[in-house]
Amino acid sequence: MITEEVKFPRVFDCGIQFSEHKFPPKEYKTGKQDIILPFNWALGQTWTRFFDGLKEEKIFGTRCNKCNKLLVPARSFCPACYKDMEEEEWVEVAQVGTVDTWCLVNYSYYNQVKESPYIIAQIQLDNTDCSITHFIGGFDLSDPDTVSKKMEAVARVKAVWSKKKNADIYDIACFEPVE
Ligand SMILES: [Zn+2]
Repeated sequence: MITEEVKFPRVFDCGIQFSEHKFPPKEYKTGKQDIILPFNWALGQTWTRFFDGLKEEKIFGTRCNKCNKLLVPARSFCPACYKDMEEEEWVEVAQVGTVDTWCLVNYSYYNQVKESPYIIAQIQLDNTDCSITHFIGGFDLSDPDTVSKKMEAVARVKAVWSKKKNADIYDIACFEPVE
């Protein structure tokens, strides 16, 4: 139980000072702690079937039988009309498409999904109604200006499969420009 009134101002890491009083000028310490939180999560039948398809080098989407949108990755419900896709049509989609948007990640941070540099992109596969998130690769990514010029010229990309497959999203190694 705190019985004494706190006399000093409280300064948080974000720099907000909640008092007009100031600490004496000095360098204040920071603490460091790594949090490791391993966990499993249930993929469910839709994602399991989608990933099983990747293991066979097939990309599946589901077509909503209400709005007719073909969505990839396959969905358990349609985000356009919120219809549960219990009787959805599974469609093997094209492995080529266009890049909607992309971002070059050329710095490193803790627990990164891939060693940098890499391009993460939204790719719309042919005849589908949404984009899939994946990597763009197959060329030198070390210079951002060169990458930018290259990506401006990229019209189409195609899926490149990993040699070793685990029925997960990394079974697609990346998408590469179609020359
Ligand atoms: Zn729909």
